[in-house]
Amino acid sequence: MKETFFMTPQQIKIRKMLADKRGILLAHYYTRPEIQEIADVLGDSLVLAQQAAQSDAAIIVFAGVHFMAQSASMLSPQKTVLLPCLDAGCPLADMADAESVRKMRRTHPDAVFVTYINSTAEVKAECDICCTSSNALKLVQTLPPEQKIVLLPDGNLARHVASVTGKNIIPWEGCCPIHQALTAEDVKARKSDYPHALFAAHPECRPEVLALADFVGSTSAILQFARKTNAAEIIIGTEEGILFELTKNNPDKTFISASPALFCADMKKITLDAIEQSLETLQPAITVSGDIRSAAKKALDRMLALS
Ligand code: SF4
Repeated sequence: MKETFFMTPQQIKIRKMLADKRGILLAHYYTRPEIQEIADVLGDSLVLAQQAAQSDAAIIVFAGVHFMAQSASMLSPQKTVLLPCLDAGCPLADMADAESVRKMRRTHPDAVFVTYINSTAEVKAECDICCTSSNALKLVQTLPPEQKIVLLPDGNLARHVASVTGKNIIPWEGCCPIHQALTAEDVKARKSDYPHALFAAHPECRPEVLALADFVGSTSAILQFARKTNAAEIIIGTEEGILFELTKNNPDKTFISASPALFCADMKKITLDAIEQSLETLQPAITVSGDIRSAAKKALDRMLALS
């Protein structure tokens, strides 16, 4: 957090509460700009999980969705992990449940089960290793060439990783409804409005959308791509919250959201009011305990060790 001089009175109050309580605010790129502005760490799921594990704060306030706060709690059980809105969920994470994973395991007993971090603790507990969109390619490459892999719950990410690595990957048929809503027609329309623009897309998008992309990568990778490219205009195929950081980092470039559908209502549930209230009451606190935590943490730890 750098630009303290532009803070509103409420932002100043929240920063003071965080300092008084030895708290840190972790925020995902998809959250509201006024939250991104005052976050201690702004990042993608991988960076936020790493920070949750490494931080020596007593309290972690998570501006993100439920599975992120769960992961933070599993990695740092001694800390209080607050999710200011308990109903900020992830429809993608809800597309896999533990019983369905166990059933798939019986069908593919020789497969390694890789779960995207966008999954519940119960699902992580049934899987061998976690991944994020930043490290999925790298982690899958560490597995033996002939290894059968089940990658869940995002089918588009699984198909993308399979096409890049050539690995034997069985996709789970879940999707992020936000990225799935972006169609090839939307992208073609934007490209015709901005004929000189490049198109950068997140791997949660449909295959036919990724086929139109000049660059495919996680939110962090899209930020790096935007910094490095000489293109003056870039169409962005991921949730619109990232445009705040993109524009801040690259004031001389123009970023165009590929579709108004790229808006995650769950991520936007976290507001400054909700953060302030949560810091006052130290609720809602997210915990994961017992066997679920130890099994799910193994999958998270394997990911962090290989990242
Ligand atoms: Fe879940 Fe998609 Fe929202 Fe991310 S953008 S939190 S994957 S629904």
